[in-house]
Amino acid sequence: MSTVVIIGGGPAGLSAGLFTAKNDLETVVFDTDETWMHKAHLYNYLGIDSVGGSQFMEDAREQVEEFDADLRVGEETTEVERDGDEFSVTTEDGQYDAQYVVFATGTDTELPEQLGCETTDEGLVDVDLSMRTSVENAYATGAMIRNQEWQAVISAGDGGAAALDILSKEQGEHFHDFDVPDEAE
Ligand SMILES: Cc1cc2nc3c(=O)[nH]c(=O)nc-3n(C[C@H](O)[C@H](O)[C@H](O)COP(=O)(O)OP(=O)(O)OC[C@H]3O[C@@H](n4cnc5c(N)ncnc54)[C@H](O)[C@@H]3O)c2cc1C
Repeated sequence: MSTVVIIGGGPAGLSAGLFTAKNDLETVVFDTDETWMHKAHLYNYLGIDSVGGSQFMEDAREQVEEFDADLRVGEETTEVERDGDEFSVTTEDGQYDAQYVVFATGTDTELPEQLGCETTDEGLVDVDLSMRTSVENAYATGAMIRNQEWQAVISAGDGGAAALDILSKEQGEHFHDFDVPDEAE
């Protein structure tokens, strides 16, 4: 089974993890819990009238864990290296192999830059519409790919786009995570 390692558990990282875990890819999220969401109150997240940022994070973590993502809050990632076709991810507590890596560390571009991901003239990680970086199977999402246009719903969209690309690669054709009311419990 392919392993997806997501570095950063704000809206971008958790959204990526929701899609990959829901669709049965082994998913690990490392997060140091310094998301800007702890400073925010949302009135502009479609479908939610009003919610405190920390409450949003609590709900989002619960939702992702319900699909068996391994959410490691408090475990910092210190290095990501290429290891043949895979990645070797080092955290303060251990070392993990991954087929796919999703960077979601807010504005911090240090880890993707260390891995060799190309950046733009503005110092952002350079990605395409599916959040692919210049390094095969490495994705960048959220605040690190946007110059100031930072909103939770946009980060969540980025995470979803990265995850769908991973799922499409795994399936060998375009993947649609479409659920219908008849199947809902
Ligand atoms: C005061 C304030 C108010 C805001 N109000 C709103 C608002 O009303 N509406 C709105 O939509 N947006 C608002 N925002 C913006 C919103 O918070 C961000 O757009 C959003 O949090 C970005 O999500 P992200 O996932 O890209 O990054 P972040 O939320 O920053 O998440 C990144 C995560 O990665 C973790 N991390 C970083 N490095 C590592 C590492 N090496 N290893 C493991 N984990 C790591 C961090 O601890 C963090 O938890 C506000 C921001 C601020 C500062």
